[in-house]
Amino acid sequence: MTVSDFKAMVVEEKGDKTFTRRIVRKSSDTLPDGDVLIKVRYSSLNYKDALSATGNRGVTRNFPHTPGIDAAGSVAESRSPQFKPGDAVIVTGYDLGMNTSGGFSWFIRVPSGWVVPCPESLSLKESMIYGTAGFTAALSIWKLIEHGLAAQPGAVLVTGATGGVGSLAVSILAKIGFRVAAVSGKADRKSFLESLGADEVISRAEATDTSGRPLLKGRWAGVVDTVGGDILATAIKATQYGGSVACCGLVASPELKTTVFPFILRSVNLLGIDSVDCPMDLRLRIWQKLATDWKPERLADLSKTVTLEELDPLIETILKGQLSGRVVIDLAG
Ligand code: NDP
Repeated sequence: MTVSDFKAMVVEEKGDKTFTRRIVRKSSDTLPDGDVLIKVRYSSLNYKDALSATGNRGVTRNFPHTPGIDAAGSVAESRSPQFKPGDAVIVTGYDLGMNTSGGFSWFIRVPSGWVVPCPESLSLKESMIYGTAGFTAALSIWKLIEHGLAAQPGAVLVTGATGGVGSLAVSILAKIGFRVAAVSGKADRKSFLESLGADEVISRAEATDTSGRPLLKGRWAGVVDTVGGDILATAIKATQYGGSVACCGLVASPELKTTVFPFILRSVNLLGIDSVDCPMDLRLRIWQKLATDWKPERLADLSKTVTLEELDPLIETILKGQLSGRVVIDLAG
């Protein structure tokens, strides 16, 4: 099947190493190989999409390129026995939107091994309110629980709390009964974070130790860290005996200056979180959780919905760390 004349965002490199973005008309002949063609209904905006959309070679090597690491829609054509036309599906991670033409488009074509059937109790729109951000928040919480979070007293610290991963981590943790302390640089978003279920909101300055001590008072039962750098180093030092720290992001810095003391004197676990290549069996279990008992009551309040044409300025906003919650892209057309 060839689908012609559909809309997609394309990022192009100019001769002077600058990048431009525009909405173009494409044909499915230009999409990569894959056994499932999907009519995308919703996508979402993640920090990584903004990097790809501004020419970051660590995310996307070759341009012109269509970003979008998330997509949800219906199967248009399938050569895989696992999927049939009309099936509601989700694709997040793998190479989508990195070096494979992504979800900022009316159509994607991907290998069936990347495709997740959308759980019955989740709408396509809800799946993209979560997107990679929500999946990563849930994967972090899953790993913290696997490492004994429920047995630890005290609150769970979430950093970058008004961001996509952070706001969903706060919401899910509160929904499943944990106390949550949220670190945010946005003083004016305190009531937003409280409405998601944060019991305490801490400034970035308070979350950054300058004493140079190797250990601080053990406050946190667990940590979901989306920022890296000094805030992550401080969180590790302030984690309780036996507690765990899920490390999933780097918006502040990819550096981590620490000593071994939290690990050898307090038995703290530092857990690596990778949503991109998360194995399919775990991926399916996490989406099931997101569709059922981990779904926040006010999931819809976490997002705003824009069209492909309205997306451009939000790419700069997320790069500056100024976005709150999630942006869903409506690709009806
Ligand atoms: P967002 O931009 O939505 O959120 C990041 C938040 O971090 C901001 O809203 C802000 O929140 C805070 N922040 C921004 N700049 C700084 C800074 N300089 N110092 C401290 N805090 C800062 O991004 P996402 O939630 O989409 O992604 C967060 C991180 O997680 C990114 O690094 C992303 O690449 C990574 N990620 C990793 C995945 C994985 O598989 N490991 C998957 C998905 C994302 P506030 O103002 O409230 O402090």
